[in-house]
Amino acid sequence: MGKITGFLEYQRQANPAEAPLDRIEHWKEFHPRLQEADRRQQGARCMECGIPFCQSGVQLNGMFTGCPLHNLVPEWNDLLFTGSLPQALERLRKANNFPEFTGRVCPALCEAACTCGQHGDPVTVRENELGIIEEGYSRGLVKAEPPAHRSGKTVAVVGSGPSGLAAADQLNRRGHSVTVFEREDRVGGLLMYGIPNMKLEKKYVKRRVEIMEQEGVKFVTGVNVGGDKAARELLDSFDAVVLCTGAKQPRDLNVPGRDAKGVHFAVDFLAATTKSLLNSKLKDGNYISAAGKDVIIVGGGDTGNDCVGTAIRHGCKSVTQLEMMPKLPDCRTDDNRWPEWPRVCKTDYGQEEAIALFGHDPRIYQTTVKELLTGENGELRAVKTIKLEPKKDQKTGRVNMVEVPGTEEELPCQLLLIAAGFLGPEAYVAQAFGVETDARSNLKADNYATSIPGVFAAGDARRGQSLVVWAIAEGRGAARAVDEYLMGYSYL
Ligand SMILES: Cc1cc2nc3c(=O)[nH]c(=O)nc-3n(C[C@H](O)[C@H](O)[C@H](O)COP(=O)(O)OP(=O)(O)OC[C@H]3O[C@@H](n4cnc5c(N)ncnc54)[C@H](O)[C@@H]3O)c2cc1C
Ligand code: SF4
Repeated sequence: MGKITGFLEYQRQANPAEAPLDRIEHWKEFHPRLQEADRRQQGARCMECGIPFCQSGVQLNGMFTGCPLHNLVPEWNDLLFTGSLPQALERLRKANNFPEFTGRVCPALCEAACTCGQHGDPVTVRENELGIIEEGYSRGLVKAEPPAHRSGKTVAVVGSGPSGLAAADQLNRRGHSVTVFEREDRVGGLLMYGIPNMKLEKKYVKRRVEIMEQEGVKFVTGVNVGGDKAARELLDSFDAVVLCTGAKQPRDLNVPGRDAKGVHFAVDFLAATTKSLLNSKLKDGNYISAAGKDVIIVGGGDTGNDCVGTAIRHGCKSVTQLEMMPKLPDCRTDDNRWPEWPRVCKTDYGQEEAIALFGHDPRIYQTTVKELLTGENGELRAVKTIKLEPKKDQKTGRVNMVEVPGTEEELPCQLLLIAAGFLGPEAYVAQAFGVETDARSNLKADNYATSIPGVFAAGDARRGQSLVVWAIAEGRGAARAVDEYLMGYSYL
């Protein structure tokens, strides 16, 4: 432990944020990082409490808390404080292949469980992580390190999201020859075409992919495995296959008027914006524009929030987020104590921007869509909403949200975005490889091995729509399972 009294002497200092009305003028990240001396001081706040819940990654009261990667948080916080950057970087990379991604987009399960946070503000774990890796990049310490020996074994990874990238990185480090197949035109999965640029600039994904290429990983884009490339081809040409195809099947909205013009899934809206931004700085017009429109987003979660920030940057006239559930409390309740994941209401960047621009929170709680109303040409013109209230089902004991009669309202709307969650992976990949799925239609893969020998699965395709940190953890787990399958043992 670097500074015994650090947590008593120093206050939590988060990276500053550009003011909402300024940052909506651009698509870049808006959290400039702290200067090195300040960052080191934040490392000194880690009290090395003895039982680092921050790195536990355990399920408490039905929710995960602590880092699923078991990041060695107290170790690298101490090394950060003492200015031992190469060592901090080494300890950080031992558990996390891509701290530059998690350091930007992770909801920081570690901080929710930080002992410092029990009575005060938690350590800035995520930003310390980002500080270490970015300082490592700027000092030239993060560079290609190809394996010294090749095993002679070949592995195909299908899907280049964080789980596919982590599996490929681990297997390549072990000396196996890895080819990653990606359906899209760019590598990165939802890191590239999902999470908006202002949250994760795509140059950081590209930077990592280039290093992996220099280390020997092959990336083949524009190939739809199970579609235009037969699964059999991969099974015949590689010693093992890892399916990291995500869980992109969106939950639809089944209401009258669903086929109106101007109704889109959130990920299609977000992905098209990023693609156009990267291809032409939005000049090609190949995206779903929210400019001048009243936008309604169905779903009050994180994807919905990304849609709020994106619609505002397009120049929407208004933006509203409909959430079925009641508003969460502002602080932890007695049945949700530290170190559990806090079930509290957070106001994310897009919502902050909406408040600054339109003067109110875009979220309307306990409300859902009853009907979509169209104009003469089938174009969306308004949304009929209805209020919901919690009601206990006497038979099952479950609490359901039920409609409150007579509470219908009409909201003007020319663009409706469905951000109501995901139902699981697209079925054709499982069918093409003949692998079994589970009750939730995810690829069934105990210890990452599917029902077909030599075929493994990881990430959202295996666990359902989740988080980047979980996808990395899954990719690492699958790599270990593949390595054992190929070599009979593994030290990954
Ligand atoms: C809008 C949005 C915002 C999010 N924001 C955050 C966030 O801020 N923080 C966070 O932690 N998590 C976030 N998530 C969740 C996170 O992005 C995912 O959990 C994570 O990306 C899953 O990684 P994955 O590798 O399993 O799958 P994906 O990232 O979904 O990657 C799967 C890849 O497989 C490719 N693929 C699919 N089928 C085939 C095929 N047949 N052949 C070839 N390629 C194929 C796809 O094109 C895709 O590139 C967000 C999710 C969404 C939708
Ligand atoms: S990956 Fe996420 S949970 Fe793990 S230490 Fe980093 S910010 Fe925390």
